[in-house]
Amino acid sequence: MPDPQIEKLLIVQSRDIHLLKIEQDLQRIPNELLSLKVKISAEEANIENAKKSLIEKELNRAVLDAKVKDQETSINRFRTQQLEVKKNDEYRALTQQIEQLEIDISSLEETEIQLMIDIDLEREKFEDEKVVIESRIVDLKRLVDVLLEREIALQDSLDTAKQQGVEARFGVDEVFLNHYERIRKMTKRPPYVVPIVNQKCEGCHLRVSNEVARGAREVGEPHFCDQCARLVYV
Ligand SMILES: [Zn+2]
Repeated sequence: MPDPQIEKLLIVQSRDIHLLKIEQDLQRIPNELLSLKVKISAEEANIENAKKSLIEKELNRAVLDAKVKDQETSINRFRTQQLEVKKNDEYRALTQQIEQLEIDISSLEETEIQLMIDIDLEREKFEDEKVVIESRIVDLKRLVDVLLEREIALQDSLDTAKQQGVEARFGVDEVFLNHYERIRKMTKRPPYVVPIVNQKCEGCHLRVSNEVARGAREVGEPHFCDQCARLVYV
């Protein structure tokens, strides 16, 4: 049977470990939230970029449309001029200009048709992808909610865990408790109170001296691993 003080310290230790776990879980949440938010922004940016590319193509189409209208206006102007010219060569020159413009218009219209086909395909693809991306965003936002709820729950249990740690310390012998607190600060990571099994410290897994192994059986005073300085018991 371990020293009754060690038994009390084992309860203190299990409550400290519980508290530490809550604190560590809480500490991780801001980073986890940040990484989710980065993912959401990236997904939203994907939608925006696809939208921009569509708008750009629509603008190009509008520019082509305006060019065609411009050239049609020029053709009409040349036709009016043709009614007024007296000389044959002037008339022919205007006819040539009109013919050239008609060739330009038909080439512009071809480009425009190709562009419209592109736009239709891209819009269709965009709409499909948007549905998928938006559902991913919904999932990510759900994870954010889960994390936020978890944070609240952890905050709630934090006070209780602290209180339980304080309560477990009541009635522990001061000498034992002071050593425990000292080791807890020094070791940083639990456990702080460990059994000796097969003459090995269960904290650092190294062999303890015969003196420590023998001493650990004695009740009434604390004993320490001569390798890692944790409190040991048998
Ligand atoms: Zn040790």
